[in-house]
Amino acid sequence: MQVRTRFAPSPTGFLHVGGLRTALFSYLFARKHGGKFLVRIEDTDRERFVEGGIENMIRSLQWAGVTVDEGVTMSDAQVLQIGDKGPYIQSERLEIYHKYIVELLGKGAAYYCFCTKERLDELRKVQELKKQATGYDGHCRTLSEKEVADQLAQNVSHVIRLKMPREGETVFEDMIRDTVKFENKLVDDQVLIKSDGFPTYHFAVVVDDHLMEITHVIRGEEWISSTPKHIMLYQHFGWEAPQFAHLPLLVNEQKQKLSKRHGDVSVEDFKEKGYIPEALVNFVAFLGWNPGGDREIFSLAELEQAFDIAKVSKSPAVFNREKLDWYNKQYMAKMADVELTARALPFFVNEGLVPHDQTADSNLQKIVLLEKERAATLKELANALGFIFADTLEYELELLVWKKSTREDAAKKLDLVATFLKTIPEEQWTAETLEQETMRWVHQREFGVGDVLWPMRVALSGQKNSPGPFEIAAALGKEKTLSRLQAAVGVLA
Ligand code: GLU
Repeated sequence: MQVRTRFAPSPTGFLHVGGLRTALFSYLFARKHGGKFLVRIEDTDRERFVEGGIENMIRSLQWAGVTVDEGVTMSDAQVLQIGDKGPYIQSERLEIYHKYIVELLGKGAAYYCFCTKERLDELRKVQELKKQATGYDGHCRTLSEKEVADQLAQNVSHVIRLKMPREGETVFEDMIRDTVKFENKLVDDQVLIKSDGFPTYHFAVVVDDHLMEITHVIRGEEWISSTPKHIMLYQHFGWEAPQFAHLPLLVNEQKQKLSKRHGDVSVEDFKEKGYIPEALVNFVAFLGWNPGGDREIFSLAELEQAFDIAKVSKSPAVFNREKLDWYNKQYMAKMADVELTARALPFFVNEGLVPHDQTADSNLQKIVLLEKERAATLKELANALGFIFADTLEYELELLVWKKSTREDAAKKLDLVATFLKTIPEEQWTAETLEQETMRWVHQREFGVGDVLWPMRVALSGQKNSPGPFEIAAALGKEKTLSRLQAAVGVLA
């Protein structure tokens, strides 16, 4: 049997990090077992339809490096479907659902329900008042064939419901949660076909998982209470149900469900903030899973080897932003300078620091290096380096003066160091040479190191905290370095 997993998002407009985790785990499980990973779009809820929603989801998956073997994908900004079990977009499969609902009605496993919205609202109110579980009371379960035919002939609005057994229990083995049991009488008679003729998620998901030969359904814990309904449908059709794995909830540090109200949750948010996709994927892989051992850094290819669904935890996974930053820093620090510069370039452009046609040249690379080991994200990196690109800096007077030194002394040292640096030829203008030569000069003159280096660093950066003066001077180039030193002297004078 070939393993086939799927990610089945509703195209609500953006990919939630929880969705990325579901997709990733499904993808990893398929890869680990030499199987196929599918993407199916579940868009039967027309009220939640968002223009461009599919494109956004797929773009985010592609950005994260999660590749699709079958189903919905994109090439050149064009949505496309690959594979012979399509269509893979549910709104294009309505005839298929129709065929199967007719079969289910014929078997007496589903029934027409003509209850009005008013009746259902009233029913719910009463149940709530009596503190009973809310749900359909089965009013239309026993309509005679004639009653049904009459109502249909009169075009009375209706839905089709699943006839859940009133006795017994539905039991299944979850790959993460072990044996899961539901008492059938507590499971609602789920609507399968809505009054607009569209299937609900519950019906479409079963038909599609079966027809697309899905072997393992890996999805969020919020779907676990739906699973007995799905299993019942498999039984009615006489189909073998796939294996289920329900992933633990994702919560924030306050133990709340991870939602948009509490900050960034979409993959796009993280992309815009300057997170590296490899770092985000590595971090997300560890949300509820752990290979055991101390190792935390795994590339996608390594995750494909290491992933083991049996090691997924049952308890909620905490989305810790600091940990994500830690991952991102690790990836940025390890990245080759050229690569990091190329990835950071769009952020410099966005900040208006460099023009649109600027390339990731060696100059920009020198600048990027200043923050390489300090910034947590690409955006932070570009932001922190804004001072390099400024035409003039605003200085805080006191900041230019080192500890017990004075304004006059700071001005004098800056002037002297500027005169000295003028003698260093352009070809030797590297951080190493600048440091060597300047330190030699400082010692020769018997100056205090801080008395020179502190005002120099502040004159070049305008900031309280920044990279060291020689790295900045190298990145600025000779001319800009000298003019900043002179500008600071002017301010102190
Ligand atoms: N369409 C569902 C969702 O939006 C998929 C649930 C499932 O994987 O069965 O999450």
